[in-house]
Amino acid sequence: MHRATPSIRSAARVSLRPGAARPISISASWRSQQQQQQQQQQQQTETPRSEPEDTRAILRDVGLLALAFGGAFGLSVALLSSGHAGPSTRQLRSDRYVSLKLLDARRTCSPSSTEGDGQHVYLSIEGPSSVGQPRLSSAELLHQGDGAREGEDLRILSVYLKEPSLQIERAYTPLYAEALTSGSARSPIELLIKRYPDGELGRYAHRLSAHDTVEVRGPEVTWQGKRSEIDELILIVGGTGITPAYQLITTLLGRPRHGGAPARADAPPKIKLLYAAPRPSSLLLLPELAQLQRSHPDMLDVRLFVDEAERGRRTAGGGLLSLFTRARASAMTEHGMEAQIGQVARADVEAALSRGQASRQDGRRQLLVCGPDGLVAAIAGPKAHDGRSQGSLGGILGQLQGISREKVWKL
Ligand SMILES: Cc1cc2nc3c(=O)[nH]c(=O)nc-3n(C[C@H](O)[C@H](O)[C@H](O)COP(=O)(O)OP(=O)(O)OC[C@H]3O[C@@H](n4cnc5c(N)ncnc54)[C@H](O)[C@@H]3O)c2cc1C
Repeated sequence: MHRATPSIRSAARVSLRPGAARPISISASWRSQQQQQQQQQQQQTETPRSEPEDTRAILRDVGLLALAFGGAFGLSVALLSSGHAGPSTRQLRSDRYVSLKLLDARRTCSPSSTEGDGQHVYLSIEGPSSVGQPRLSSAELLHQGDGAREGEDLRILSVYLKEPSLQIERAYTPLYAEALTSGSARSPIELLIKRYPDGELGRYAHRLSAHDTVEVRGPEVTWQGKRSEIDELILIVGGTGITPAYQLITTLLGRPRHGGAPARADAPPKIKLLYAAPRPSSLLLLPELAQLQRSHPDMLDVRLFVDEAERGRRTAGGGLLSLFTRARASAMTEHGMEAQIGQVARADVEAALSRGQASRQDGRRQLLVCGPDGLVAAIAGPKAHDGRSQGSLGGILGQLQGISREKVWKL
């Protein structure tokens, strides 16, 4: 189930020409969408002109160009010599990179904890001054359901980070969407990034430290839905696939508050999270998830799964796992939450589906599956070869009665 190559990774494996503002290797669907938009824009702006009008227009254009060039040159010289970016350059947009400062960079599995497995880095990036319109990550999002985009008030948003020397970019999911929603106060963009032994962006992210500058673009919508149409969200995730799920959970329930009053969130949807990782030490965001479950016991139900136990962790009964007892243990406790030893099985998925009233109303239930290729394929069938299209419904969900493809989204 846990291969070292996440499906979400392949979708984002895009290279950039040095100095280019956006990727040169882009998916066919995105490219054709963009060409259509450009053609439409040309058709709208091109109007026939008479000859003298044409000459005047050319002279005017040349004059304007010279003015613009002179102005832009002056401005860039001023910015370079002043040594820091002006406020407009901190505007986050999906079509070009902005340089933002790192406020924090730490090896940890959670922003609120010093614990880490050495494989994950937490980055806190200064909030942008403003945020542009989010772009849809796939054409399928546009055609989801009846194709209506109005009222899609629940969203998972991601950003792209660029590795400056290799000119490659990868997508990452901020832990809190508020950093990317225009109109709100500009809170930092917080990311948790996994390092694969020969993963390009992950290794770059792990070399960063506070005060470094990173190149970011976005936001991009990776899933959207209407809150009023969903009574129950079932999130089945593995590894770093927890980050989109966590963003959605905090969009609905608010940030975890240690000791403070819980954010008011008693309106649907209720959330069931099935979260799998290789080992207890590689489960991310556990203090935050435990806090959210304590504050919202009726709204959030977290089930953890690990492939193997580790020595020194607590069993569900409270004892310490030793070299000898860990082979026989079937469950353990992590931050007060039970972690089952073994992969997410059909019985676990069926149990999640049968709890709660929405089980009798598939139309008001949404399932999101996110993580390594193996997990996504085992739970919902593989994504299509292009890595972006959803593919057909398969795996455990494909075998169950009453689960329709439109209600399952693979991230
Ligand atoms: C919308 C979205 C959100 C995401 N959010 C997060 C997030 O919050 N946190 C996070 O850590 N990740 C996230 N990812 C995954 C992230 O984009 C990268 O894919 C991941 O960080 C790996 O990138 P890398 O450059 O470090 O590794 P890569 O250079 O892409 O390599 C990763 C691993 O796969 C192997 N590999 C590389 N290419 C291939 C190949 N062609 N075939 C087989 N194996 C290969 C490498 O050897 C390495 O072990 C997200 C992805 C998407 C699409």
